[in-house]
Amino acid sequence: MSESKDFLRTIVEKDLKSGKCKEVITRFPPEPNGFPHIGHAKSIFINFGIARDYNGHCNLRMDDTNPTKEDTRYVEALKDAVEWLGFDWGDNVFFTSDYFPKLYDYAVKLIKMGKAYVDSLTEEEIREYRGTVTQAGKRSKYAQRSIEENLDLFQKMKKGEFKDGEHVLRAKIDMSAANMKMRDPLLYRIRHVHHFRAGDEWSIYPMYDFAHCLSDYIEGISHSLCTLEFENNRDIYNWVLEELELKLPRPYQYEFARLGINYTVMSKRKLLELVESGQVNGWDDPRMPTIAGYRRRGYTPESILNFCNQIGIAKANSIVDVAQLEFCIRNDLNKKVPRVMCVLDPLKVTIENYEGFEEIDASYYPHDIPKEGSRKIPFSRDIYIERDDFMQNPPKGYFRLTPEQPVRLRHGYIITCKEVVKDASGNITEIKAQYHPESKSGSDSSGIKVKSAIQWVSAKEAKTVEVRLYDRLFKDEAPEGLEDINPDSLQVIKNALVEPAVITVRPDERFQFERQGYFYADPIDYTYEAPVFNKIVGLKDSWAKKTKASERAPKSATKPQTKKIQVDGEVAPMSEAQRTLFDKYTLELELNSEVANILARDEQLSNFYYESLALSVPDSPVNPVGLANIVTNEVARELKEKSVNALKFNPIQIGELAKMVEEETISSKIAKQVFQVMAKTGENPTQIVDACGLVQISDPSKILPIIDEIIAKNPDNVAKFKAGNTKLLGFFVGQVLKNTGGKANPKVVNELVTRKLK
Ligand code: ATP
Ligand code: MG
Repeated sequence: MSESKDFLRTIVEKDLKSGKCKEVITRFPPEPNGFPHIGHAKSIFINFGIARDYNGHCNLRMDDTNPTKEDTRYVEALKDAVEWLGFDWGDNVFFTSDYFPKLYDYAVKLIKMGKAYVDSLTEEEIREYRGTVTQAGKRSKYAQRSIEENLDLFQKMKKGEFKDGEHVLRAKIDMSAANMKMRDPLLYRIRHVHHFRAGDEWSIYPMYDFAHCLSDYIEGISHSLCTLEFENNRDIYNWVLEELELKLPRPYQYEFARLGINYTVMSKRKLLELVESGQVNGWDDPRMPTIAGYRRRGYTPESILNFCNQIGIAKANSIVDVAQLEFCIRNDLNKKVPRVMCVLDPLKVTIENYEGFEEIDASYYPHDIPKEGSRKIPFSRDIYIERDDFMQNPPKGYFRLTPEQPVRLRHGYIITCKEVVKDASGNITEIKAQYHPESKSGSDSSGIKVKSAIQWVSAKEAKTVEVRLYDRLFKDEAPEGLEDINPDSLQVIKNALVEPAVITVRPDERFQFERQGYFYADPIDYTYEAPVFNKIVGLKDSWAKKTKASERAPKSATKPQTKKIQVDGEVAPMSEAQRTLFDKYTLELELNSEVANILARDEQLSNFYYESLALSVPDSPVNPVGLANIVTNEVARELKEKSVNALKFNPIQIGELAKMVEEETISSKIAKQVFQVMAKTGENPTQIVDACGLVQISDPSKILPIIDEIIAKNPDNVAKFKAGNTKLLGFFVGQVLKNTGGKANPKVVNELVTRKLK
């Protein structure tokens, strides 16, 4: 694959040339606490790709230092993903837990050097003592402990003689450091939990900042490539390696931008939530943005690698349009896979003037694709066409079969409708037609004009298959979680019909079903007797149209933005001021590092956030985390297209909006709707909520009747739930929310439904 040279490769080349490193050794260091997602694919592509390009190697390292959430199942999923993408770790699969003894020795060494101490402050005190961005921190009195005492305590921590949280090991660095991460960072904490590999041997576990750099060192990593939110951890990374006076060569850390994709959630925590709530059928559900999910859906490794290549490495914090990923798979399959015919919703057609049977020779590929291959399509008097390829009273511009308009059967003859047969309730059950013997595709001398060709299958020879039509899992461009699920993300069609050639092939086959999209034989459920096909992707971007029609999504959602994202070049390091802000956001306001990173690097947005925080509701300040969510999701989107002065709403109003969510006056779902209106009209959120009657319903006496109604309407699901299918809880909650237009308080609904169904 030919990549243009990005900033990481530029660094690597320089280091090889100068002799700073002899061999390029990278690592992909996931935590085995979930299935890897498309963001991990980016990291795999970068780490393994760079190692391969420079004849080095890349280690696969399970960063298993947080025993409560990790599992061997995830280890296997990670290996599968890397292999499937076509990369090879050779013998180099490692576990951080294997280094626990060595890491412990390094910690002891630091203590002996007087550079680490056992602290016994509470978690809260530690936070308090850390100071703020403008104020230096204060060192714990326990930092005075003698080396002997520290050694003794640390050993006892290891032996399990203390309770969780009683002590921690900290580096002795600088409580007034400008980079707040350097204010005596924690190195070890006590956790009495079972580790899936190390068993019960350890009562202390190393923190990321201590374990990661040393694991890199132990493995001889030359370039430690990680995502941007670790930028401020780089100082600790270097401090540990330097203070321990480790022999050169040492590893160095470089950061690249995290991948985010619209209409997708990407953290393993949120993905786990989807799995556990039963909204999807496991980690490899074809709607999941996991590598296992894409794989099962029918994506090819090439399409994913190509996507990773297109989005490039650097460009900070961009959200990539999911249409671009869809474009990549479509583009890959377009030239590769055979085109066949499938009828999803069959309508019977009897060709009254045709007797007998023939087989039509038809190429699998159109002329312009340099691939050979053909099959025979049976043709007979009784065929099926797609129900919506016939219309009795067509609107203008309808090009398919009508009582007046003939149509071509793809690869076959032109037919004309002679009679429409209906059942008692007026549904069309059959078309009686005539074919034109001179019109056969390839040797048409009939002179009849048609406007389109439609798919069809011969009734007797067609095979029945199940088709699973997948669509995007979320309907919201920036989904938060379960409440933004697209209710139509899966439609199962049990009785679709395919031409027989499709079924003689082995599974692990992909097809284009003409005019329908690309499909894949489901690798798990497909059998010869009961074939199942997954829809990989449609032939066109159907969302582009949909969103345009409703004018909800910004323009960015409607076409792949290859140009915009394909920027190579170094991500500017945070300036001093940005870093100060980042620290303030993460440490004082407790925003997560991704949100903090977005804000800190965007001055306009950051100012907006600040003003909201400072100006709104002075007597009861708004919760900074909730406010940050609204600012980085909603406000940021507006600011991408407009200048601050052109915004209709102001920071105070956004503060009010956040406050309403915080106080549960409205749900965060409704807040998005309110925001849409604010962005258009500049009205106050309270005004909008009042005028549109959007106040959240939390009163049980209002919610209970709705629950009763839904329970009464769905006796089957109630029975299933009572028989143990607890996944259906989500269904009931969803129905209630839907019934109230999203106004019911999800928490209350959840409680009430649970109680009702007991
Ligand atoms: P999540 O937040 O989804 O759990 P993580 O960063 O905690 O992700 P890890 O398993 O620790 O996941 O990550 C393994 C490697 O993959 C890390 O080097 C991390 O930087 C990288 N990575 C994770 N998510 C992304 C992403 N969205 N884009 C690029 N790289 C990513
Ligand atoms: Mg994580």
